[in-house]
Amino acid sequence: MSDLNNPLTKFYSGKFEKQRQEAPALQRKMTPVPDCGEESYTGSDKLSGRKVLITGGDSGIGRAAAIAYAREGADVAINYLPFEEEDALEVKQWIEKAGRKAVLVPGDLKEEAFARKLVHAAAEELGGLDILVLNAGMQQAVKDIKDLTTKQITDTFTTNIISMYWTVQEAMAYLPAGGSIITTTSIQSEEPSAHLLDYAATKGAITAFSKGLAAQLAPKGIRVNTVAPGPIWTALQICGGQPQEAIPEFGQKELLERAGQPAELAAVYVFLASDQASYVTGQVYAVTGGSFFA
Ligand code: NAD
Ligand code: MG
Repeated sequence: MSDLNNPLTKFYSGKFEKQRQEAPALQRKMTPVPDCGEESYTGSDKLSGRKVLITGGDSGIGRAAAIAYAREGADVAINYLPFEEEDALEVKQWIEKAGRKAVLVPGDLKEEAFARKLVHAAAEELGGLDILVLNAGMQQAVKDIKDLTTKQITDTFTTNIISMYWTVQEAMAYLPAGGSIITTTSIQSEEPSAHLLDYAATKGAITAFSKGLAAQLAPKGIRVNTVAPGPIWTALQICGGQPQEAIPEFGQKELLERAGQPAELAAVYVFLASDQASYVTGQVYAVTGGSFFA
């Protein structure tokens, strides 16, 4: 009997119930709860003994990477907002269940002092830092540019891209040759939506930042790549990331006719962090359900 899975039906392919939480949302309260590979990801020692820091590691794509990294043999520190402690504690349990060390460092990446301290706290608890996954992000849809507040523009840029400068600056004290930085950009970098003028611009910046950083760090033997997800069912989307009326059809227009699940990105984050990607740097890896990232 074939064990092939049809990508159209491998994960939830129905419409979503309208649902709304205040940002930041808890993924454990979503319907359906996003699939971060808790019951499915199988490791094979691709990251034995590696030390990893993942921002936004409590939920969604960062959580899927955290679980996969632990099952591949890595010790994992995660950063998230204090409000998200309940989601983060679940991730801690999954990391420990995989027999690895879990370090929780809650705090707001918009605060420069915290963003810098985070890297040292993680590296001290882990005993080093080999892999940095800069994945935290905020997204608030606003239909009319006249309604976009300076606070939202500034918060989105500080969270999504400016904090990357701070964390990478501090991480340079630890990352060894063979180390790796992975950022999370978006298909929005390539195909910006009308209602995401601030968010999409930060994603364009992240793509350019990641490519430029790859050029700067290549002589040190540190690879830098970025992952560009398409529509993925995560907490980001139900706390203002999408207009409420767009929730039921979320992801349905993709070639694969459904939203992706965080679990479907885990293998890409593992590959880019692993020695198997030794000749891969400065690249954008798209996981979009079909949209093409040029
Ligand atoms: P998510 O809400 O589960 O994860 C985002 C995380 O970012 C939160 O859990 C939170 O811990 C963190 N965060 C936000 N603001 C923060 C702050 N000020 N300080 C510290 N942490 C903060 O949603 P997700 O979709 O898994 O998002 C992960 C990344 O994927 C984001 O960069 C997002 O832009 C990107 N992305 C998501 C999609 C999608 O469709 N879900 C598509 C393209 C890109
Ligand atoms: Mg979260």
